[in-house]
Amino acid sequence: MKASVLFEQGKPLAVEELELEAPRPGEVLVRMAASGVCHSCLHAADGSWTGVPVPIVLGDEGAGVVEQVGAGVELRVGDHVILSWAPTCGRCHYCVIGRPNLCERRQPGRGVLPDGSTRMSLKGRPVYHYGHVATYASRTVVHESCAIPVDKNVPLDRAALIGCSVMTGVGAVINTAAVPAGASMAVFGVGGVGLNVIQGGAMVAAHPVIAVDVVAAKLEHARALGATHGVDASREDPVAAIRRLTRLGADYTFVAVGNTRAVAQACEALAPGGTCVLIGVPETGATVPLDVRPIVTAERVVRGCSYGSARTREDLPRLGPRQLSA
Ligand SMILES: [Zn+2]
Repeated sequence: MKASVLFEQGKPLAVEELELEAPRPGEVLVRMAASGVCHSCLHAADGSWTGVPVPIVLGDEGAGVVEQVGAGVELRVGDHVILSWAPTCGRCHYCVIGRPNLCERRQPGRGVLPDGSTRMSLKGRPVYHYGHVATYASRTVVHESCAIPVDKNVPLDRAALIGCSVMTGVGAVINTAAVPAGASMAVFGVGGVGLNVIQGGAMVAAHPVIAVDVVAAKLEHARALGATHGVDASREDPVAAIRRLTRLGADYTFVAVGNTRAVAQACEALAPGGTCVLIGVPETGATVPLDVRPIVTAERVVRGCSYGSARTREDLPRLGPRQLSA
């Protein structure tokens, strides 16, 4: 099969013919129909995230058709699937308490399948799988829990985006923060994931839904997808602007950009009792100074959000057909 391979961080990808092993028990082989391009792959490619094993096939969101199944797999050949970068075992502590996005069998950053090995190789040399799914390939072998069946009417090029960006952004609102109707929220960074956070805010009828970015065109796009206000952080202080629009500060802030200054501003822009949800991941080792006092006295919450706290088997099909047929 053909795949785009990253041989060295900071260098361009190269298209190569790779050997792909057949799926082992509990795995499936998927013929890729479409793949999204995620900013996290750019971080891995340009070297801002360190420790990425190479050679590696990037790509953590995609959709395709099951072509071959390993022993004991429920999926059938011909099933349409959204690929999920977070395998779930269904048995570990986090899976059974309803937080399968934190499954203990994940192998974050190691470039291997849940059993610790790879299925791809180039002239006998192992090639790693980015995000357990390695979607920048014509075919890929994944753990069955990473292939979520969806309605065959869902166009696969759109389904591809649901597996990471949409799940993360909408999930941050509906799962991680569980924003109630009428709550105020601000989204720092309205690129791919940030726009999906905006859509999540519109879905739950948050108000206002404030988009913060430094690119005017992105703010316009955010308004088209449900933002009620746009704040250009290159022209005005976003904290002051959010306070002006909400009086007390935002009930929820989301940081959908890997930028430490935005993290600090999003914490500062919170109302008493508010929650700041961190989605974007800055460069490896980045830290943010934290003003502790308002966190204590105003009971502010700062929390992380991985994959929109996804329960993939439930959430991915739910975000698919209903959204796309609208
Ligand atoms: Zn688990």
